[in-house]
Amino acid sequence: HADAAMYKSKERGRNTFHFYEHGITERAMRRLQLESRLRRAFDDRTLQVHYQPLVRLDTGHICGAEALLRWNDPEAGAIPPDHFIALAEDTGLIVPIGEWVVGEACEALKRWETEILLPADFALHVNLSGKQLLQKDLPTRLSDAFTRAGVSPARVVLELTESSIMESEATGVAVMTALREFGVEIAIDDFGTGHSSLSRLKLLPISELKIDRSFIRDIAVDSDDAAIVQAILALSAKLGLGVIAEGVEHAEQEAFLMQHGCLRAQGYRYARPMPEDELIRLLVDAPSLALRETVDTD
Ligand code: C2E
Ligand code: MG
Ligand code: MG
Ligand code: MG
Repeated sequence: HADAAMYKSKERGRNTFHFYEHGITERAMRRLQLESRLRRAFDDRTLQVHYQPLVRLDTGHICGAEALLRWNDPEAGAIPPDHFIALAEDTGLIVPIGEWVVGEACEALKRWETEILLPADFALHVNLSGKQLLQKDLPTRLSDAFTRAGVSPARVVLELTESSIMESEATGVAVMTALREFGVEIAIDDFGTGHSSLSRLKLLPISELKIDRSFIRDIAVDSDDAAIVQAILALSAKLGLGVIAEGVEHAEQEAFLMQHGCLRAQGYRYARPMPEDELIRLLVDAPSLALRETVDTD
């Protein structure tokens, strides 16, 4: 195709511009269509929130769940967050959608607290966009959401990426500080992939790090990744921060993490993101997800 396009551009000269422009227009059109479909999905309340368990490796119990947005379009089917979160951020839609996710997740947490005996350390994780951090009234809005749902902020962890914190500058840090003041915890998501300096990290009002899954993937075979993860674990211990490994899929990764003192993990090895009713069943039926190979099944 590249060859064909180049050939065309040599042959037709000025037409190249139209050819190129046409491509841009089509892309912009598709974005606009996606945006209006997303807006409609949100208005119609057809977006959903799924939950992925977080697991405590030494005991195997579910010590939390991360709320993850799901969009099932009637025509296109399941559209992954990686395809629409950026668009929602560009258009500002992420602000009402993100707030809706917090509300949904808190109402779900309230049901779990009422219907089942949750482990004492169970934490509900919710992703926040950097755009939300720029709202000065975010702390009051979230605190209102917790009050309305009847959940304690101490059970909630807000996940922010390094880049969204960096982009939101001083406002973001002030908002994070206010959030911590009323009792929520804050985790840095995808840790290691952003550009935060360690001196900046020290000043952030955060409580834990989530090690990006790109470092976990080859942890058992790649000595560089192993060294990076060990360094992050040492850093979090020294700074008094909690730590969670993302994207754990295999027993070897789990063994490495346990051996190096990482006690919490999330990944397909334990469970995929699932609808609320499935999580409830899992919490009731199979409270131990880790260390499965050590279970004596006869
Ligand atoms: P994230 O916050 O880092 O969420 C973890 C992502 O890793 C999820 O992808 C999850 O399904 C995936 N994952 C978990 N375990 C494994 C594993 O073992 N292997 C692999 N390959 N993947 C695993 P998902 O649900 O597609 O979400 C992608 C991203 O979209 C999230 O990354 C988050 O940045 C964003 N996102 C999702 N929901 C929301 C939301 O409500 N608000 C905002 N602002 N962002 C959201
Ligand atoms: Mg996350
Ligand atoms: Mg992550
Ligand atoms: Mg991510």
